[in-house]
Formats: sequence, C-alpha cells, structure tokens
Amino acid sequence: MKCSVCPRECNAERKSEYGFCGVGESFKIARAAPHFWEEPCISGSRGSGTVFFSGCNLGCVYCQNYEVSHGAFGKEVSEKELMKVFDLLIEKGVHNLNLVTSAHYAPMLAKVLKEYNSPVPIVWNSSGYEKAETLEMLEGLVDIYLPDIKYFDSAPALKYSGAGNYFEVASAAVLEMFRQVGSIKTDENGIAQSGIIIRHMVLPGNISQAVKVFSWVRENLPSETYISVMRQYTPFGKAKEMPPINRKLSAREYAIVKEKILALGFENCFFQGKESSTEEFIPNFNIEGVDLL
Ligand code: SF4
Repeated sequence: MKCSVCPRECNAERKSEYGFCGVGESFKIARAAPHFWEEPCISGSRGSGTVFFSGCNLGCVYCQNYEVSHGAFGKEVSEKELMKVFDLLIEKGVHNLNLVTSAHYAPMLAKVLKEYNSPVPIVWNSSGYEKAETLEMLEGLVDIYLPDIKYFDSAPALKYSGAGNYFEVASAAVLEMFRQVGSIKTDENGIAQSGIIIRHMVLPGNISQAVKVFSWVRENLPSETYISVMRQYTPFGKAKEMPPINRKLSAREYAIVKEKILALGFENCFFQGKESSTEEFIPNFNIEGVDLL
C-alpha cells in the first residue's frame, strides 16, 4: 500500500522502496537505552527508556542524530523483537518508554502498543511534523506527548527543514495531542504520567521563532501547559556552513528569549543551562539495546 502516513505524503510503496523518511515496512532502531537528559519529570532518577527509531520524515540540516535520521542507520527488528526491547528497558527500571522520532512508524507502532500493554507510560517524542489524523490512531495508547514546535514562520522551516508548511502541520498536531492527553500530571515523585510538554530548540539568529511559537502556545493552550525552551543547539552537518546557524546560541540571545517567554505567564517552564550545548549529551548510536536480540 502506498504510504501517506506523514505530511510528506510521498506515496512510497514501502514494501519495495523508500520514501522521504528512508525506511521500509520493518522497524529499524539505532539505540535503546536509559537516557538521563530529558526534562526532569521524564528522566527522573532512573532514566527514560529511549528507543531511537531510524529514518525521519523532516530532515533538518542541523540534526544532531544525522546518521540515524538522514542515513537511516540502525538494525531492523520484528514486532516481537521490539516488545523484547521494551521489556529489557523496563527491567532496567526506566520511568517510561520513550519512542524517539517515530512518526513514520505510527500505524505499525499503534498495532504493537495495543498488544504490548506497557506497565510504564508511553512517551511519543516527536518533531511535530505529523498529521493530526495519523495521531488519532494513537489515542489511548500514548500517555505523554513530547512534541517540538520548531518554527512559526515558513521561511526558516523551508530553509532548515525543507517543510514550508511546518507550523500549519505542527500546530494542528499539537492541538490533537493536547486533546488526547491534556496537561501534564505527575505521580507523588514528580514523574510525568500523562500530558504534553512542548519543546522548542532556540536557533542562533532566529530567536523571534521561539517567541512567536510560545506566544501561540500561550494563546491556544492553558497557562499550566509544560514548555521546554532548549538551549542545546550545536551546529551539525550542513548547518556548519550556513550562517547564522553555523554557531552556538549566544548567552544574550537565550537571555532575551527567556525574559520574553517568562513574561507570557506560563506556570511550568523548563530552561537549560549553558552546559547543555556540548556534544557529550548526544547519545552514541551503536545499536545498543538491539545488538544482542
Ligand atoms: S512516512 Fe515516509 S514514506 Fe510515508 S509519507 Fe511520510 S516520508 Fe513518505
């Protein structure tokens, strides 16, 4: 069947060819391991059980997981093997199962999640470039949505991610996610059990995008909505040759964004320290967690 799972709608026959996302009909995973650098209510003390899926339907020039997203590096696994990967993470004590960049596998994952019946919350960790109608099939299966809203304007969305309609798509996706899970609810230890956290990584020379994105969030969702204003940008791939995103974010740029966002009146904001923009926070994609299946 021709694929129209995501907004690219490239109609690839995934049995025999790759579409924009670069993967076929099997799951492909680059790494499955506890991760400690998500927001505190996601990582907690025992880590978030991240499963990094190979391929991507967005394709940002600055992607820090370049070999996984653009190169589709990873190991193919069956449905049963994916459930085994989940089991192994849960045995390690993780607080949740965190499906990273999984939009292009959504119907396949909906099928697995229906069968798996996870004892810990399921996190859908997303670029935001997802069709709302595809997300509908995840209702009742995903507990926590962790979407980006990367851009407000179409010019940077087109230039950096090849998706001029990014905001139109991502804003509809976020509203659908919120409809399904609402605001964050935590357990007695402060660990998220359900809800949405909206992320935006501030890009150098593009700080107006951050302010426009969070102004939209404030106008369209409750003030209690959790937001995460990420400072960790480091130039990778083609971005190293593309001013102004060929450098890190300056302290002044982040301070301006922080001040403007705090003035919007959100009750739950995560901000990052300067130390976040180092390569040591980037996971090692070495098929850990799937190599011994
Ligand atoms: S999920 Fe992949 S194959 Fe399907 S429409 Fe999107 S990019 Fe194309």
